[in-house]
Amino acid sequence: MRLRLRSTRRQQADQVREAPAATPGAAVELRGVRRQYGRGAGSVHALAGVDLTLPSGTFTAVMGPSGSGKSTFLQCAAGLDRPTAGSVRLGGTEITGMSENELTELRRGRVGFVFQAFNLLPSLTVEQNVLLPMRLAGQRRDHRRAAEALARVGLAGQARRRPAELSGGQQQRVAVARALITRPDVVFADEPTGALDTGTAAEVLGLLRHAVDTLGATVVMVTHDPVAAAWADRVLFLADGALAGGLEGGPADRIAARMAALTARTSGADAMAGAVA
Ligand code: ADP
Ligand code: MG
Repeated sequence: MRLRLRSTRRQQADQVREAPAATPGAAVELRGVRRQYGRGAGSVHALAGVDLTLPSGTFTAVMGPSGSGKSTFLQCAAGLDRPTAGSVRLGGTEITGMSENELTELRRGRVGFVFQAFNLLPSLTVEQNVLLPMRLAGQRRDHRRAAEALARVGLAGQARRRPAELSGGQQQRVAVARALITRPDVVFADEPTGALDTGTAAEVLGLLRHAVDTLGATVVMVTHDPVAAAWADRVLFLADGALAGGLEGGPADRIAARMAALTARTSGADAMAGAVA
C-alpha cells in the first residue's frame, strides 16, 4: 500500500512538472484538453483542445448546440471523466494523473454538483440529503450547519421532510444546499433549471448567483436557456468541441442571438436539432 502511494505521488509529481504553471486565483483551468471517443475513422472528438481559466468567485454559463461537447466538458472539468490529452486543475490542484480513489475524494470534498433531475436520495430526509457529502467524508452530523444551509435556500423548518413531499423547485434548492455544504472549490451544474418552470427556475438561479456574490462560491453551469445563462458573469460558447467565443453576461436576447448564429453555422445533423441540448 505504501509503495503504491509513493508511486502515485511520483506520477503526480511528474504530471505537475509537465503541466503548465497554475494561474493564481483560478478555480478551474483546462489546458489543451481533448476527449476522443473511439479510434480511427469512426472516432469522435468531443473536445478538440480546450483552454480556459475560470477565476474563483465567478459564475460561468456554458452553452452550445447539441453535441458540441458541453457534457463532456463538464465531466472532464469535474473529474468525472478523463481527458485523452491535456491537463485539468481544480482549485489549483492538478487532477490529471490522479487515481480513482483520489478523484473520488476530491469530488466529495472539493466539488459540488447540481443535476437537472435533482438526484436526491428518496429514503433520506432533507437534512440527511444536505449532510450526505459530509457523512461520506466521515464527518460528524452537524445539525447547525444543515440548518444554516437550509435557511440560506429558504427551506428552514423542512429538515425532517422527505424529497417526495417537496415541489420540484424545493428539491432543487435542497440539491443546491447539498452542493454548497462542503464549501467546495467549484459547483458544477448541468441544466439545473431544465425540469423547472420559469418562476421556480429564477429562484434556483438566484440562489446560485447569491452563493457566488456572498459566499465567494464558483459556479459553472451548462444550460441551453439564454434566460438562465443571463444570470452568469460570463457565457462561454462551445461548437464542435472547441470554444467559440464568449459574452460578458446578458441580456438574454443577446445571448439567444449568439446561440442562434452558432447553431446556424455549425454543420451536422446533431446541430440541426438546435439549442435543444
Ligand atoms: P453536448 O452535451 O453538448 O450535447 P456531448 O459532450 O454529450 O455534447 O457530446 C459531444 C460529442 O461526443 C457528440 O458528438 C457525442 O455524440 C459524442 N459522445 C459523447 N459521449 C460519447 C460516448 N460515450 N461515446 C461516443 N461518443 C460520445
Ligand atoms: Mg449534454
